[in-house]
Amino acid sequence: MSRLEHQLTADYCQSLLFHPHQSYLWAPERKQVLERTMISPFLVLAIGTCLTNSLVPEKEKDPKYWRAQAQQTLQNALRLQKLNTNVAKNIIMFLGDGMGVSTVTAARILKGQLHNSPGEESRLEMDKFPFVALSKTYNTNAQVPDSAGTATAYLCGVKANEGTVGVSAATQRTQCNTTQGNEVTSILHWAKEAGKSVGIVTTTRVNHATPSAAYAHSADRDWYSDNEMPSEALSQGCKDIAYQLVHNIKDIEVIMGGGRKYMFPKNRTDVEYEMDEKARGTRLDGLNLIDIWKSFKPRHKHSHYIWNRTELLTLDPYTVDYLLGLFEPGDMQYELNRNNVTDPSLSEMVEMAIKILSKNPEGFFLLVEGGRIDHGHHEGKAKQALHEVVEMDRAIGQAGDMTSQEDTLTVVTADHSHVFTFGGYTPRGNSIFGLAPMVSDTDKKPFTAILYGNGPGYKVVGGERENVSMVDYAHNNYQAQSAVPLRHETHGGEDVAVFAKGPMAHLLHGVHEQNYIPHVMAYAACIGANRDHCASASLAGSPSPGPLLLLLALLPLGILF
Ligand SMILES: [Zn+2]
Repeated sequence: MSRLEHQLTADYCQSLLFHPHQSYLWAPERKQVLERTMISPFLVLAIGTCLTNSLVPEKEKDPKYWRAQAQQTLQNALRLQKLNTNVAKNIIMFLGDGMGVSTVTAARILKGQLHNSPGEESRLEMDKFPFVALSKTYNTNAQVPDSAGTATAYLCGVKANEGTVGVSAATQRTQCNTTQGNEVTSILHWAKEAGKSVGIVTTTRVNHATPSAAYAHSADRDWYSDNEMPSEALSQGCKDIAYQLVHNIKDIEVIMGGGRKYMFPKNRTDVEYEMDEKARGTRLDGLNLIDIWKSFKPRHKHSHYIWNRTELLTLDPYTVDYLLGLFEPGDMQYELNRNNVTDPSLSEMVEMAIKILSKNPEGFFLLVEGGRIDHGHHEGKAKQALHEVVEMDRAIGQAGDMTSQEDTLTVVTADHSHVFTFGGYTPRGNSIFGLAPMVSDTDKKPFTAILYGNGPGYKVVGGERENVSMVDYAHNNYQAQSAVPLRHETHGGEDVAVFAKGPMAHLLHGVHEQNYIPHVMAYAACIGANRDHCASASLAGSPSPGPLLLLLALLPLGILF
């Protein structure tokens, strides 16, 4: 929009705001809002913003714009008929915890609005991926899944019970004695076996459900350290997840996220939060897992343990062989609350991870989790959740800039959805955190476009639904209204999207079980169990296979001898 258009729009809205009785200027619903509700400054602001942005962008009024845009998209789609069947040297998996499709759409609009656009037309980095599939997320014992059973599916290739990580469905949650013999390995493990470097980057604690399925086998996702385990499980010999992180696969090159307290002996003071008792070490066994982590690394290699952003940004990746970065005692801060001295962003962690991992000529596997999208939703704080998605999308762009689709398969998906929705006939460019342009025809109150099916945002005031125009619904921590009161909003059960680009990305298409995903990634990289195609793939990929094939064909005939 030009400066003049902006000015005209602003003037137009001003006239509306100061002459509300000129009702011919208003859609009837908007007039209702003013007449039937108490007019708060927030409401006036929201309506002003909504009107400012609801004008159709000038170029979109011309059918040529839409035709040219669709034709360009068609040309791009036609080019996809030439499939990329290269062997994937690198695999990067981005996992948005709780990033259902409605969350992706809302985050796209937010990203656009952060760049002063209406938002709907903008594109996330993941939107630019050429192939998309749907993933069926249920756990073996749950219609609406959790992050542990789903992580086992998309990392280990086997569906599992909710609450369990790195074990088959023969393992029952909390039952330590059902673990042994039922362990399943992950694609991180397969990549390591094939000589690749491997890494885990997350915004949650590094022993949280998603990352833990990459390296641990646990009947309970909550066994973060031995402090959280029942004595029965300890006596039966089960190990906590932090212990397994350090011991199971001793040479994971990059581990970054939160979770410091689970690495240190009980009551050890935290380096960053000295006065906070909850930040203190948790380990009953008295182990210092950081020291153990270091002791497992070969003497001649450079291993670095860091705990703040400054240390991360001053690292020279070319001299780092192993990196363990633990930036918070528990989960990392939300992106909106991040301390720019102590806490790196997800994209900063991803940048360093790729620099370290890509030194390996055999390639790498990197798991990146935007883990707190889920937490924002559970708290009913949609703004926190959506800013987490925008930051993960930035990290996806960062990774894209540092790698090539010729040799890197990148997959972006979610473990499960949430009961998060947005609607209400909002006009084009309405703030994604704004109000619907009408009041309820039943309780006569306004409502935000974003709502939850259940959760902590359920609010009744004087026997009636809260009037949102009386509160700051654009606040970072505003809890959107929900239909059912729950302290923690729940996951949703519908399919989630899988975005893919790079070698064999076309195998992620259609509707699939979630555990199909790592089978595709492994096939593309010629790692794991299914490698029969790899010999011919490498022949086909060699510069001049013709003479060699001819030679092989002639050999049985004895023509050459
Ligand atoms: Zn969750």
